[in-house]
Amino acid sequence: MTNKSELIEYTSFRQFGFNEGVMEGLDTVGFEKPTPIQAQIIPHVLAGHDVIGCAQTGTGKTAAYLLPILHRIIENPVKGINTIIIAPTRELAVQIAQQLEGFSYFLNISSLPVYGGTDGMEWEQQRKALSQGVDIVVATPGKLISFLNMDIVPVQNLQHLILDEADRMLDMGFFDDIMRIISYLPETRSTLLFSATMPPRIRELSKRILKEPVEVNISLSKPAAGILQMAYLAYDKQKTRLLASLIKGRDLPSVLVFASTKSKVKSITRELAAEGLQVADIHSDLEQSDRERVLLSFRNRQLQMLIATDVLSRGIDIENISLVVNYDVPRDAEDYVHRVGRTARAEQTGIAITFINEHEQSEFARIEKLIGYEIRKQMPPESLGDGPEFNPSMNKPKFRGKPGRRPKPKK
Ligand code: AMP
Repeated sequence: MTNKSELIEYTSFRQFGFNEGVMEGLDTVGFEKPTPIQAQIIPHVLAGHDVIGCAQTGTGKTAAYLLPILHRIIENPVKGINTIIIAPTRELAVQIAQQLEGFSYFLNISSLPVYGGTDGMEWEQQRKALSQGVDIVVATPGKLISFLNMDIVPVQNLQHLILDEADRMLDMGFFDDIMRIISYLPETRSTLLFSATMPPRIRELSKRILKEPVEVNISLSKPAAGILQMAYLAYDKQKTRLLASLIKGRDLPSVLVFASTKSKVKSITRELAAEGLQVADIHSDLEQSDRERVLLSFRNRQLQMLIATDVLSRGIDIENISLVVNYDVPRDAEDYVHRVGRTARAEQTGIAITFINEHEQSEFARIEKLIGYEIRKQMPPESLGDGPEFNPSMNKPKFRGKPGRRPKPKK
């Protein structure tokens, strides 16, 4: 289970004590605060523990292992290969290599992607680089085995082995390949296994290859099918009028709106009240007794609209809301799922609407990746003018390097 107290503890990457090189890497890719899985896993990897991480793509699991490993490589360089990351497919291996490139752009850390489909010349280059030793190898199982079988890969000082999407690897029939790879590796390594699901075969594999692993589970249910999810592309200056236009004249007995800051919550409430809507706000400036009074009247349906800060979102325990509005895109993709889940009763439909400005698009794309589908995005009504185009890559990290940068010479 997700341990809430651990989530709250790590709100900044600084708290992990990363060296400056890793902090610069984080700056390069533009990550500001750790995701829940990062908050839970990073301390264990830094401490050298074995870890089982039950987490889907979209939760930030790649950085959860890459960042502490980069830190450990800088602090404690070894001769030969330091880390092997195994992924089931070339696509995932490419994604991992790309994130690695972003983080290690300014670091003296070498990496080598080793996955299928490369021509003879590349094969020869990979063979040469592997035999000389690189810090991190990102590989698909078959390709890695062919090199390990040649006995040219210096793995005797290996510190970390990561199996990413282990359940898919087993589905694709890689069990024997994985065991064979492991037979070449020293026992003193730490091993991290990530899997979206935990079927018995994964348990069995974990028992065989992990030592007293710490288990971290970020399992997440997807929004129920009955919930209508929509998004509007809107500039900040359009958002309050858009909200008013969606509510006015509609039969929506309870509307819960989340915004990112106290000052926004207060000004949205003021503006909507001025439009004649029945609305109250809730945030940390209010006394506890006032918060409870507001919540009670919202729960009793005496109050139609409640505007709350993101910070309070997890603490508000009210179900069966007719409409949930994310006035700002939630920073934490899991919060999105949690909030949207408030709207629908078992056989009823609820509506969840998110407003996306020009800077929030890659955050929203991350939510879509987590839930596994895209949400329909529309422009505000004509009277409000067009919102921004949807182009999530515009807001992506500044560095967009090609994976497979040639390994730098070892220090
Ligand atoms: P993953 O689950 O590792 O595939 O990550 C999903 C997406 O989340 C990737 O596009 C990452 O770049 C992004 N991501 C991971 N961690 C963070 C973070 N702490 N802040 C913002 N974005 C992140």
